[in-house]
Amino acid sequence: MTTPHSTTDPTAPASFWGRDGRGDGFRAATVCRQGHQQATAYEAYPGKNLGSCSECGDLVLGECPECGLRIKGRSWAITPRPGQRPTYDEHPNKFCDRCSVPYPWASDEQRVRWLLSLLNDLDISDEDRAVVSEHLKQLQTLAAKDNVRRESKLLTEIKKRAPGLFVAGAGKILERLVSDEAWRMVAGG
Ligand SMILES: [Zn+2]
Ligand SMILES: [Zn+2]
Repeated sequence: MTTPHSTTDPTAPASFWGRDGRGDGFRAATVCRQGHQQATAYEAYPGKNLGSCSECGDLVLGECPECGLRIKGRSWAITPRPGQRPTYDEHPNKFCDRCSVPYPWASDEQRVRWLLSLLNDLDISDEDRAVVSEHLKQLQTLAAKDNVRRESKLLTEIKKRAPGLFVAGAGKILERLVSDEAWRMVAGG
């Protein structure tokens, strides 16, 4: 059994293989933004510009967009058959196993679940937490296009009570739950 580490994979950024670049027992997978697996047994950094998915046309990712960790592929303990073709199966992991941020192919329900776990760690009152939690669940079930006003109302209230959900990584995930229009109205930019 071989394992990757920075000395055998000089092309990989330091953040790519887990455990400080020494590898954590898994090869790297490439997956499109809709979740279709392309390859699951990369033994070296697959690089950037991986083209688009033959199944749906979306961009193919070779690392976590948030923290740059490899996407979990096959275990180094298993020898894959050579020349395996992509199956375009849905990648089993919905959250990065280092930074925990939902992958682009996570569902709205999974995004909300992740935001709720962040909410638990914010230093806000129990009342604010309860209201925001309720609002997040409502955002998940709204049919966005017909509900820009409703969405922006919920978002405004969430911003007032839990501004921590609007910063950095959390904001990006929250943004994906709502229409572009509602997001611009409340978060600007
Ligand atoms: Zn695809
Ligand atoms: Zn990550």
